[in-house]
Amino acid sequence: MSLCAVTLLDDHAAQLRQLVLPKHGREGAAYVLFRRVRATDAWESVPLIRYLSREVVPLDSQGILSSSRNHVTTDNDGYVRLLQRAAQTDCAPGFVHGHPSGFDRFSQRDDANEAALTQLAQNRNGEDVHLVSLVFAGDTVPFGRVWTTPDSNTTFDAISTVGQQIRLHARCPDISRAAFHRQELAFGPALTRTLASLRVGVVGCGATGTATVMLLARLGVRRLLLIDNDTVETTNLNRLLAASASDVGEPKIDVTRAMVERMDLGVAVQTYKGWVGDAAVRDRLKSCDVLFGCTDDHDGRALLNRFAYFYLVPVFDMGIRINVAPDRAAVTHADARVTVLIPGARCLLCHGVVNPVQAREDDLLRRDPEEYARRRAEGEAYIRGGGVPNPAVVTFTTGVACMAVDEFVHRLTNYRHSGPIDHRVSKYHLSDERRPGADSGPCPICLDSEYWGLGDTEPFLDRVG
Ligand SMILES: [Zn+2]
Ligand SMILES: [Zn+2]
Repeated sequence: MSLCAVTLLDDHAAQLRQLVLPKHGREGAAYVLFRRVRATDAWESVPLIRYLSREVVPLDSQGILSSSRNHVTTDNDGYVRLLQRAAQTDCAPGFVHGHPSGFDRFSQRDDANEAALTQLAQNRNGEDVHLVSLVFAGDTVPFGRVWTTPDSNTTFDAISTVGQQIRLHARCPDISRAAFHRQELAFGPALTRTLASLRVGVVGCGATGTATVMLLARLGVRRLLLIDNDTVETTNLNRLLAASASDVGEPKIDVTRAMVERMDLGVAVQTYKGWVGDAAVRDRLKSCDVLFGCTDDHDGRALLNRFAYFYLVPVFDMGIRINVAPDRAAVTHADARVTVLIPGARCLLCHGVVNPVQAREDDLLRRDPEEYARRRAEGEAYIRGGGVPNPAVVTFTTGVACMAVDEFVHRLTNYRHSGPIDHRVSKYHLSDERRPGADSGPCPICLDSEYWGLGDTEPFLDRVG
């Protein structure tokens, strides 16, 4: 058994919908180039292949030979040019068409046409090339399949569109929804079903992380991945929702998992004790549809910042900053921040959230603690932080988790009249909210689309050093 999924940027999905469901009411068609990412699924432990949309390639004016409400025929020349580009860019070809009638299955004509397209793709680009096929049949997420040979195809287990909205089309597990009745009075059953199908990772199981996990499990997320390397300390007990005094010394992932299991809501929890940048956790990250960034570690944040754009996995990153007066315990600033990372939104570097110097420090501390201590003792300017505990208050850490999960709920339901918010800072000391702009300079991660949906690269995430 294996799993197969497609992720489309919602801009690509919108462009495709226009191309394949044109106003004249006949079927339209378009091509897409997809990167293919292979991983082992964190929950099912089976191979997972995920196709990431890189580029929509419209057909030129001669590309459509004939079309009606029930069929579309395309010319070979445009398809051969697509195959050339697919080979040059190490992409899989995708054929997308529309069913303006709303017919929600593949027709026999589709079967014959796509088998021929697969044959041509494998003749030209090699037998390892698979053809992705998607159909838009209305205002919903498309349905689709992947052809592995001209004689065989597999229906996708999940098709998602991500960006300002997150939509998922997947086989919903058979679940009891009784516990979510009151929530369904607000959002209907669709949210419960989507949450039951999503794979969600939480990076960091400190105060914001455990609060986030608690909210996600109560909302109805059924697959959670927890990543953290720390153990519970007595000084965490003021804010770590999952922990009791007897948990001191236990790994935070285990304590957080136990909290979820006590809810008995049917959540499958996978855990990884280590750093988010460990090579061993990459496949698990690649299995996630959505990630929550709840870490204080700048290097870990810098990694998630790239991951969102390379793998089209929305990251809801959050942080708290409390400043106190230098001479007494009095709050001067208390900022809670949520930033959503996905192509179309500006990244943590552009918002000045990730400090590259601090990220290098975090990296050195993790790789070579002795060298870190030596440089720090010598007063090297490069080593600035470390050792001094930051103030932390449960109302702020839980509040920012609520902000982040609420943004996630909005992107699934579109409930908020004012729309999505990519970057939001709640000023607790002012009872005020700000939405600061990003740095206006160029950014290879969030402004240039070269990385968007690129998926696997060597080195991982094109990170050097
Ligand atoms: Zn069709
Ligand atoms: Zn950026």
